[in-house]
Amino acid sequence: MKKTYHIITIGCQMNKSDSERMANFLEELGYETTEEKYKADLVIINTCGVRQLAEDRIYGFVPRIKKENPKVKIVITGCLSGRTDVQRRMNDYVDLWLLTKDMTKLAEFLNKADKRELPDSYLKIKPKYDSTFSALVPIGNGCDNFCTYCVVPHARGREVYRPAEDIINEVKELVGKGYKEIILIAQNVNSYESIINYELSITNKGNGRKINKKINFAELIRLVNDIPGNFWIRFATSHPKDMSDELIKALAECEKACHHIHLPVQAGDDEILARMNRKYTVEHYLKLIKKIKTAMPDASITTDIIVGFPGESKKQFAGSVKLAKEANFDMIFIGKYSPRPGTAAQKMKDDVSKLEKKNRELALTKVYKKSTLENNNKDLGLSFELLVETASKGYSYGRTRTNKYVRIVNNPLKENLIGKFVVVKIVKANDFGLDGELVLE
Ligand code: SAH
Ligand code: SF4
Repeated sequence: MKKTYHIITIGCQMNKSDSERMANFLEELGYETTEEKYKADLVIINTCGVRQLAEDRIYGFVPRIKKENPKVKIVITGCLSGRTDVQRRMNDYVDLWLLTKDMTKLAEFLNKADKRELPDSYLKIKPKYDSTFSALVPIGNGCDNFCTYCVVPHARGREVYRPAEDIINEVKELVGKGYKEIILIAQNVNSYESIINYELSITNKGNGRKINKKINFAELIRLVNDIPGNFWIRFATSHPKDMSDELIKALAECEKACHHIHLPVQAGDDEILARMNRKYTVEHYLKLIKKIKTAMPDASITTDIIVGFPGESKKQFAGSVKLAKEANFDMIFIGKYSPRPGTAAQKMKDDVSKLEKKNRELALTKVYKKSTLENNNKDLGLSFELLVETASKGYSYGRTRTNKYVRIVNNPLKENLIGKFVVVKIVKANDFGLDGELVLE
């Protein structure tokens, strides 16, 4: 009988994608997946250390898994795996602490190293995609930006980018299998760079011409866009300091690129932005939004804002509210600041109370609920292409190119639409999404 594995993934899309690679790697080593975490031979926990809340999740369930099944092998990977304080706290329950980039070390740990050839980069491991129509395609890993609150550069290390050729080959394979959505991911997609010295013909456009040049993210988007097929390109996350005119132009011109830009601003006050080491100003950010909206009037823009960064006064927080109103976001992901070990901000006094952070979160929530509803109302009566993703309680749900969730109200699961493109006409707008009717073509 084959040994079984169960992977628990916490956190961002990058972790989800890493877990997909790990799943395939384990299956190549002869393991098979199980839904039963208390019975698996191997449990891998792919952790997130971005906020205390995400970190705290592992302290409860890891000991429980070991207690229920003392024979289980527990591996901790992801952003907490290199933290010595976490290792000290959890060592009794954990069999292996595995940095994500060292994924292939699993072979040795499971006594399966034998003669197999292991790739030099874990990004070369093929993934076992969770979805049959939407694929996460990492274009790199790590971050060099060192925002003072953020643990990612410490946990994931410096930026490493995947060769464009590998990315394009992966996308071509996916599109060949019928995938409809390609999500290019990295901590900061805008700082992507790679040397390409391959035949441009891999995109079916270059007539075999050899090229050898450095390309950036805008050029990568164009190369992916040139791959023949009916699919959408999404990407995350963009850093405002590196969002170039060239990239905005490429997004506007590439017909497969979705007009949704997640552009985390983090704060609406120049002094706080400087102390966060974000390297842009409020003015720069608002100008960017204008440029994006001019080039792509239908674009939706979402953001991340941290409330209660050390020393953030009421007046400085009012700057975040003002910016949020001006930017008219389609969604704000709000993070209550929590100090992260090893970061520069950890040395600053975490002096905004829990209650005040909560109040600031509520105040910003009010702002985005209003702008989301206003923006969604503009879609009433219009028709949009939709990629159907799920079905539940009698309805199908999907997302538009602009990343808005739509519930299809006139086709109560008569047919399975999951993974298909359909056209819907919007009949109702809410602050959390839209209702649409299927338009028969
Ligand atoms: N690479 C992305 C974000 C990565 S982390 C970027 O540059 O924006 C995801 C989000 O978590 C961040 O945008 C930030 O809003 C939030 N976050 C990161 N560290 C945090 C901390 N210490 N406290 C609260 N929120 C945090
Ligand atoms: Fe963290 Fe800043 Fe890097 Fe984003 S850009 S991962 S917030 S350090």
